[in-house]
Amino acid sequence: MDDVIGSIGHAITLAKRLREISKNIEDAEFKNLLADLNLELADTKLALADVMEKNAQLRTELATIKHSQGGISIEPLTFREFAYFTEGNDGPFCSKCYETANQRIRLKKVTGAFSTFGHTQCPSCEQFYDGKI
Ligand SMILES: [Zn+2]
Repeated sequence: MDDVIGSIGHAITLAKRLREISKNIEDAEFKNLLADLNLELADTKLALADVMEKNAQLRTELATIKHSQGGISIEPLTFREFAYFTEGNDGPFCSKCYETANQRIRLKKVTGAFSTFGHTQCPSCEQFYDGKI
């Protein structure tokens, strides 16, 4: 992006020099073209400033999203026994939530009387699973 800004700045400088030189030239067509070139460069500079502002805005939004998710995880999940796990053995994640809503919901251990329904339960859909963590 800095290269583009530098190029436009250089083009504007060249156009200014041409304008200075054109004072000694009486060709109307040359002066009209030079005026058009100056307008185009000014428009380009404004458009670039707009793009840079939007780019900065999008970078801020992306950083916010990444931060809110603790970094975007792209590690694939594999189904083993009763639930999904990452290759690094992170999990278990609820198979129902992952397969129906593509959500990675970590299963919690079930203790006490509810353990007759299963060893783990999804805190989101409340599905019980009969597998040990
Ligand atoms: Zn679930």
